[in-house]
Amino acid sequence: METHPPVSTSPSEPIRRQRPPQVLLRTLVVAVLVATLFVTFTPSALSGSLNEQLTLLLTPQSQENVLPGGTLRPKIRIGIVAGHWGNDSGAVCENGTTEVDVNVRIATLVQQKLTALGFEADLLEEFDPRLQGYRAAALISIHNDSCVYINDQATGFKVARAMSARDQNLAGRLEACLRDRYQRRTGLPLHNSVTNDMTLYHAFDEISPDTTAAIIETGFLNLDYRILTENPDQVATGVVDGILCFINNENIAPTTVP
Ligand SMILES: [Zn+2]
Repeated sequence: METHPPVSTSPSEPIRRQRPPQVLLRTLVVAVLVATLFVTFTPSALSGSLNEQLTLLLTPQSQENVLPGGTLRPKIRIGIVAGHWGNDSGAVCENGTTEVDVNVRIATLVQQKLTALGFEADLLEEFDPRLQGYRAAALISIHNDSCVYINDQATGFKVARAMSARDQNLAGRLEACLRDRYQRRTGLPLHNSVTNDMTLYHAFDEISPDTTAAIIETGFLNLDYRILTENPDQVATGVVDGILCFINNENIAPTTVP
C-alpha cells in the first residue's frame, strides 16, 4: 500500500525528519575516524607479534578453566616436543639407553611442572600432527646429543631459536632465557656449536609463525650422561626456569659464550 507523505502542518516536522540521517552520518564519520586512528596507532604502541602473543596468552584454551558462572579463566599454552618420540630412537648408547627415552622423560617432567604451575602444556611427538599451524606462547623441542665420546669439550647444552618466527626479538629472548636459566640450574656449560639440524629444525616451519620457538639439546649423552639420566628433574627444572623467564619477561644477565 502506497502512502503519500503527510502534508506538513508543523514547520518543525521536516527538520525533525532530516535530523536522523545527519546524526547517523556524523556518527559514521566519527566511527570511521576512530577506527582509522585505532588501526594507525595500535601497531606502533604494541608490535604486531606482541599483540598476537598477548591475544594467545589470554585465549581460554580448556574446558577445565570454566569458573562458577561460566567465565573462562585464560591459561597460557606451551608446547613441549619430546625429540624423536613416535618416530625413531635418536642417539643410542652402548648400554642400550636411547636418546628418545631420555628426551621423553625430561619433556614429560617439563610438561608436568608447567601444568602444576597453571599452564596448558602440550606434550608433542617429533612429527605430531598438532604441530601444523601450532599456536602457543612458546614451543620448546627437547633433544640430546651423541652418546659417542667425541672429545673432552663435547659436554654441555645448545639452544637455537626458530628463525622462522615472525618476531625475532621474542625468539631471541626465548633463546637467551633458556641459555641463562638452564646454565644456572644445571651448571652445564653452553656448548657453542649450533648445527643446521637445530636452526633448520622441521617443526619451526610447521608451527604458526606467531609461535615463539626454540630447540634445546639438554646435554651430551656421553659426558653428561649422569645428570641427564640420574637427575632429569634438575634438567627439566632448568628448561622450565627458561620458559618462566621468557613468559614473565624476567631480566637476563649478559651471556658469556666460552
Ligand atoms: Zn635428537
